[in-house]
Amino acid sequence: MRVLVVEDEPDVAEALAWGLSAEGYVVDVAGNGVDGLWKAAESPHDVIVLDVMLPGMDGYQVCRALRGRGIWTPILMLTALDEDLDHAEGLDSGADDYLPKPFSYPVLLAHLRSLTRRALGARPAVLTAAGLALDPAARTVARDGAPLDLTVREFAVLEYLLRAAGRVVSKTELLEHCWDAHFDGDPTAVEVLVHRLRRKIETPGAAGGSIVDTVRGQGYVIRERS
Ligand code: CA
Repeated sequence: MRVLVVEDEPDVAEALAWGLSAEGYVVDVAGNGVDGLWKAAESPHDVIVLDVMLPGMDGYQVCRALRGRGIWTPILMLTALDEDLDHAEGLDSGADDYLPKPFSYPVLLAHLRSLTRRALGARPAVLTAAGLALDPAARTVARDGAPLDLTVREFAVLEYLLRAAGRVVSKTELLEHCWDAHFDGDPTAVEVLVHRLRRKIETPGAAGGSIVDTVRGQGYVIRERS
């Protein structure tokens, strides 16, 4: 999951970036509205955390501009003004959800999970496929009830493929959503990671074949099996 944080207070932005990275999110940070708008339009994000009080272009204006350009990434607005009017304005400008400052970190994470779930259609809180159960809130993965030990990036890739189950996901898309923007974008990194992930989640010679299928020239897919 790739998140864009638009926040002008460096301490808050840094704390958010650090905390969200630790949760396995790929985090981009913008320090003002204009930069936020540019970053949101330039590369795909799964969710945007948008502060309302920003210098120059405020959060409402950024939100309206994004929607006006046809960018429908879910937006969580952070408002310091705990007044009904501001909440209404936030939602009217095209935001999907809002959170008054100061907020508790677990509540922020829960809002982000809820937004990304909704954006991807009806998806359960715990993602399952072929005996796997991945719980984004608890950050656990189990295979037939036995816990698996995945790295943060392996977890992010598996979560992304599970959320997209039934659809082929390209290496480029995985790079965009599971690697940070500073990465040089070599698709070999995706191949290496998927290879490692398969060794952890798949039982060799198991009936029903592999969980993560390679579609030559296109990418990877977790097929939805009944
Ligand atoms: Ca601010």
